[in-house]
Amino acid sequence: MEKPEIFIHGNVDEEEKKEEALNIKEVYEKGYSSNLSQKEIDKLLHTEKPKTPIDLEIINLSNTLTNELLTKYGLKPFDLKENNVHIIDTKLYKKFAGDLENTDACYQASHQAIFVEDIGEEPITERVGKILHETIHFKGFQSYQIFEFQDKKSKNPNDSLVYQGPFRAGLKVSSSLRKMEENDEPFSVRFKGLNEAVVVELERKLLPDLITRAENIPKEPYLDFEEKTRVAPFYNIDPSEIEFVFPSEGSISTYAYPDEREVLSLLVESILQDDSSLNRDEVMDKFFRAHFSGNILEIARLIEKSFGKGSFRILADMNDYKSSEKVKEILMGIRSTKNSG
Ligand SMILES: [Zn+2]
Repeated sequence: MEKPEIFIHGNVDEEEKKEEALNIKEVYEKGYSSNLSQKEIDKLLHTEKPKTPIDLEIINLSNTLTNELLTKYGLKPFDLKENNVHIIDTKLYKKFAGDLENTDACYQASHQAIFVEDIGEEPITERVGKILHETIHFKGFQSYQIFEFQDKKSKNPNDSLVYQGPFRAGLKVSSSLRKMEENDEPFSVRFKGLNEAVVVELERKLLPDLITRAENIPKEPYLDFEEKTRVAPFYNIDPSEIEFVFPSEGSISTYAYPDEREVLSLLVESILQDDSSLNRDEVMDKFFRAHFSGNILEIARLIEKSFGKGSFRILADMNDYKSSEKVKEILMGIRSTKNSG
């Protein structure tokens, strides 16, 4: 199943947009950007780690589960293929991760690919969550932008500069290249925290299904809920926050972005308080749908109904745990005024 055509914003003519849409399709087919030199392509393809049967199983199941969701939401499913995932050493990973170099797995829209840092003796258990998480990013709504501007530095008034790049990815929005040029604004990303919160909640929802269907992945670390409940108090967390547990080593792994997800939880609880016709799963489902469809109107409307006009924009600034705390404080303040008034 091939990728549906991507929407492109910008001031260039329709022909040029069509051409870029075709280029993105080609990038998706290959699994790396067409801006790479032959030397860089060789380096990537010849040094990447061959995928093990377990890697392939994780890729296939992550693909199937996310395609089932796309179908459920009335969207066109498309495949995450083996060549859209690159498992590479740390040095090469840092190069492809760019400003995400502090992560150990990432999705790069410019390459239509997921990069996973190969850290040697990695237990299989780590790999599952990483690939599933990045697959959810990969399948999320996407749009691009291309803007052409007059080159102010050139003496020839006909000289122009063309900027292009991803615009939306799931709920995340990158700076408009037009606004950056016109207002001399630095590049920024909005709704990053909300985007990650929704992706991790999807990951939590899909992971048990993936493990249940898998043939080569050990089930116990993920599905032994008794063991999770037993160890949770030692880490002072909710057992459902434990992704997997290694009883022999006494070590656990927990789901990422807890602060961002606390804000999401506050949104969902408040929406539920205000609308008794909905249940929790239905509200979460609206956030999940928005991630895949790109249509944020419904969640924005629900949030503004519970937190007041303009409140959806407050979430744009949530980009890390610090800003999550601040956003949570603001939203709780609004709720307590509302409830006492
Ligand atoms: Zn992520």
